[in-house]
Amino acid sequence: MTMRPEFWTTIPLANMTPEEWEALCDGCGKCCLNKLEDIDTEELIFTRVACRLFDDTSCRCANYAVRKQHVPECVVLTPINLDEIAYWMPPSCAYRLLHEGRPLPDWHPLVTGDPASTHKAGKSVLGLTVSEAAVALDDWEDYPLPLD
Ligand code: SF4
Ligand code: SF4
Repeated sequence: MTMRPEFWTTIPLANMTPEEWEALCDGCGKCCLNKLEDIDTEELIFTRVACRLFDDTSCRCANYAVRKQHVPECVVLTPINLDEIAYWMPPSCAYRLLHEGRPLPDWHPLVTGDPASTHKAGKSVLGLTVSEAAVALDDWEDYPLPLD
């Protein structure tokens, strides 16, 4: 099944083909980062501390096919659980944007036609993360990630 032209502007998330759904991911890597929640304000704080399976040099999961064997807590985003999980995704996440009725940004690879445009626009965490295997939980707050 090929992707329909500009499907992200017309097709509801629940009606996208698996190929279209996968193509929505901009490759930013931010969903693989650990987050902290401010107990006073309930504000969600993204850190640069990444999942132990995250490959900082490619900005991708190092073993996506069998990730659940290595990281059982990894959540797979689907049209069914999106409503529950969108809050935990970065504001720039394409799934979250469409779920909230907003358009994709002009740097999104589907818009630019360039698979690397997220990195080129400085919207990914390529080369910015540290592994959770190297940072104690108590120190995560020392690695905040500003979000735009
Ligand atoms: S945050 Fe969203 S767009 Fe970015 S890598 Fe994760 S699923 Fe893809
Ligand atoms: S297992 Fe892979 S996809 Fe899941 S959070 Fe870790 S790096 Fe990301």
